Amino acid sequence: MSDSSKVLVAEAKYTPTSLLDIIYEKCGHVGPSSAVLDFYGRIVDFKIPERIYQEKNVEVGSPITIDDHSCPKCDFEKFKIVVIRCAVCGEGICPGDEIALYAKESKALNLSIATRVGEEIVGCLKQGCGPAAALAGRWTENGFEPFDFSKMVIQPW
Ligand SMILES: [Zn+2]
Ligand SMILES: [Zn+2]
Repeated sequence: MSDSSKVLVAEAKYTPTSLLDIIYEKCGHVGPSSAVLDFYGRIVDFKIPERIYQEKNVEVGSPITIDDHSCPKCDFEKFKIVVIRCAVCGEGICPGDEIALYAKESKALNLSIATRVGEEIVGCLKQGCGPAAALAGRWTENGFEPFDFSKMVIQPW
């Protein structure tokens, strides 16, 4: 085993990073005000913005009720379905992320986790992943969309 071989993160992981004292009315769950949504190394930080507390006239960090959003765990479960993985580094690719496309014969592709677009294979555009990667478009909830056309950016708010 060479040290340089990247270990693929096997799972997506949800980690609350605050007390569970927020009521999310949209899904009915009690959840944290912040959480880390880890999609195979692609990290999405969930955090209730300060303006929400200001609008409610309470101190930042107070237990509050959010009426128009589901809890971060529900977000996590929802996003998990539409997150795919880079065939080169294995990290998650979220809707809104820019992607590269590789010929399926390219070297260093992990086809067991790959997502295909036609005859090509999806990779991420993260620095250090696939130095020859070129922007092809975006990943979206509905699949691949060529560059310049994006419907959804993965942002909790
Ligand atoms: Zn929920
Ligand atoms: Zn990658």
